[in-house]
Amino acid sequence: MFNKRVKIKELLTWEPKEQEVTVMGWVRTFRNNQFIALNDGSTNNNLQVVAELGKFDDELLKRITTSASLKVTGTVLASLGKGQKLELKATAIEILGDSDAEKYPLQPKKHSLEFLREIAHLRFRTNTFGSVFRIRHSLAFAVHKFFNDKGFVYMHTPIITASDAEGAGEMFKVTTLPFDEGKNKTPRNEDGTVNFKDDFFGRATNLTVSGQLEGELGATAFGEIYTFGPTFRAENSNTARHLAEFWMIEPEMAFYDLEDNANLAEEFIKYLIRYAMDNNREDLEFLAQRLADEEKQLPQDKRSELGLIEKLEFVLNNDFQRLTYTEAIDILKESNHNKKKKFQYPITGWGMDLQSEHERYLVEKHFKKPVILMNYPAAIKAFYMRQNEDGKTVAAMDILAPGIGEIVGGSQREERQDRLEARMKEMHIPIEDLWWYLDTRRFGTVPHAGFGLGFERMVQFVTGMTNIRDVIAFPRTPGSAEF
Ligand code: ATP
Ligand code: MN
Repeated sequence: MFNKRVKIKELLTWEPKEQEVTVMGWVRTFRNNQFIALNDGSTNNNLQVVAELGKFDDELLKRITTSASLKVTGTVLASLGKGQKLELKATAIEILGDSDAEKYPLQPKKHSLEFLREIAHLRFRTNTFGSVFRIRHSLAFAVHKFFNDKGFVYMHTPIITASDAEGAGEMFKVTTLPFDEGKNKTPRNEDGTVNFKDDFFGRATNLTVSGQLEGELGATAFGEIYTFGPTFRAENSNTARHLAEFWMIEPEMAFYDLEDNANLAEEFIKYLIRYAMDNNREDLEFLAQRLADEEKQLPQDKRSELGLIEKLEFVLNNDFQRLTYTEAIDILKESNHNKKKKFQYPITGWGMDLQSEHERYLVEKHFKKPVILMNYPAAIKAFYMRQNEDGKTVAAMDILAPGIGEIVGGSQREERQDRLEARMKEMHIPIEDLWWYLDTRRFGTVPHAGFGLGFERMVQFVTGMTNIRDVIAFPRTPGSAEF
């Protein structure tokens, strides 16, 4: 058996008592031909490996370069050096893989996040990305734990779908049709449109933009379900919070109204934050320090009032601010920001869609905490949202987070078949295509609600990373699909 290693994270918690152990990892630095800082990805903390002078031949020592991989066996001793409780006195060092220090792109110095994105295949080996992706893992695990503990059923909704009626965003087509002009020509109908009858599925299909409609089918049988999977949007918005491929969590619950829905979403977000605080303290502290250092470069008025950890504690310890869309419009309209014409999109009045600058004003300047906005105008929301008695709003809810903007979008769903169909007609949604969706309203319909949480935006919030490209391993954005 090859692998009898101890992980460095665990080893660093031991009392040094001359234990014999084997560790494996990658060299971060090698000082004075004697001290190896070894990292195995279990923690940002390196293990100090001591190669006693004269004990190893020069040929071997020369190969201990940054990012070379090693297998080291040795004795765990109390460390005399600063900054560590213990060290490993090496008895045997084996080079598993050499690393040409001249060519290795990561130097032991600070690199910009932009540069690291270009070498995303290696950036996990930095402290910043080590921390971010360990936290991402933890949060993913916590998602499942939260819902499993509540008895929700994890549902895998399809990634390839034929429903183009959700209106959540631009879609990527899925096809095996040729798009050549020569012999292997795209099949066309008489009117020149593409003939999808000849396509793989015999119809036009896309990558899913949301699992919600299928999720509702599950909720109206299991009671409570959630999805957690990849979602695709071909939106050409090159922002720090949009990806073309992102992961979304979509719980859908029978016997829930809008308030139940908002309560669950708030509890869920707080649970995820708490989970990271309890299980990733060291990584959070590292990122908090990183952020603080970065902010030192900024002018005073651009710096955050709270550090990362204080921000997370604040969110945990305070209720989210709940208000209606109508109240939000009034606040925005009366704000000095609006009066001084500082919004790029001025507040024209009731009915307008909120831009991210408006959302951020509400959370960052006005309330200074997460906000749950409810009851939006029907005209700017999807067909399936429940129509309120006022005849103009729907039971929608968005949760807005400081620094991020929209993190959750959800609603109580329209369970009344007649109302739903009337709305679909108004919005030109093909009723026949969604026969299976409407069946839930025909056969034992129930009040139900759900929401979508963008996983990367949640990871951004917890890690404090400002660009969404830095919280997903290999970001897909307009013009970019490397790795
Ligand atoms: P936005 O207005 O920010 O584009 P949206 O209204 O399109 O969001 P929804 O359709 O409600 O968002 O999707 C639910 C959640 O999925 C959002 O609240 C957000 O957290 C996340 N999300 C939506 N689009 C993206 C994207 N392109 N990249 C990453 N996350 C996204
Ligand atoms: Mn969008």
